[in-house]
Amino acid sequence: AVSSAEEFDFFYLVQQWPGSFCDTKKGCCFPDTGKPATDFGIHGMWPNYAKCKTRGEVGAGALEMVTKRKKKCWPEFCNNGEPLKIAAITDLLKGLDANWPTLACKSGKSFEFWSYEWKKHGTCSGLDQHGYFSAALGFKAQHNLTAILAGAGIAPSDEKTYFLSSIRDAIKEGTGFTANLECNRGAAGETQLFQVYQCVDRAGEKLIDCPLPMTGNCKDRVQLPAF
Ligand code: 5GP
Ligand code: 5GP
Repeated sequence: AVSSAEEFDFFYLVQQWPGSFCDTKKGCCFPDTGKPATDFGIHGMWPNYAKCKTRGEVGAGALEMVTKRKKKCWPEFCNNGEPLKIAAITDLLKGLDANWPTLACKSGKSFEFWSYEWKKHGTCSGLDQHGYFSAALGFKAQHNLTAILAGAGIAPSDEKTYFLSSIRDAIKEGTGFTANLECNRGAAGETQLFQVYQCVDRAGEKLIDCPLPMTGNCKDRVQLPAF
């Protein structure tokens, strides 16, 4: 059964670099399943509008203040927060534990992270629960971002800095599509690559070039901290 999807234009498939999630003033915690691999992990697959809509044009959705007007840039929490059922994804659990681990210091249970992402974003996707999680795992498996960066000489390090443009180019070259990049600040204030936003067509079937640029808090040189 496919849930009633809000109209949207594309997905962001968002992957987080664990070294950057952990190297902040807040820190991180490993899931019950143990320390994740030195690899990007999925954060979520997020339906998105290509243009923010003025409040009132659409139903439930996120609010963002843009020049003092309320705008909705994506739908969220659709279908009355239909809960994620473990029975719907039993065949995906191994893959989810390995590729979508929680690093927040909440419960150590990655299932709670997946459930939240399902409720906030998945319920607006037009995909059913199995379809949503298998699509995200499939895109991650299709292009190994850690290997793509390593192939371009961009390896995790607490000392080296890399040109943001070389990361951007390596991802374009390695996946065939442009992605957006987001940075955060490490515990010592350094700028680090935090998340990669790949774009997916609204059917959830194939990667596309990202239609919107993102400022993303990066600088022209960034770190990829060890994990
Ligand atoms: P932050 O404010 O930390 O960038 O994002 C907080 C949360 O807002 C994200 O985890 C995500 O759920 C949602 N969010 C942020 N940016 C976007 C976006 O561009 N598209 C969608 N669909 N959700 C977003
Ligand atoms: P969002 O930023 O998508 O709106 O919210 C993400 C929620 O999932 C937060 O409540 C956050 O604490 C929780 N969470 C659990 N594990 C993780 C993780 O590894 N990364 C992120 N970004 N959030 C996580």
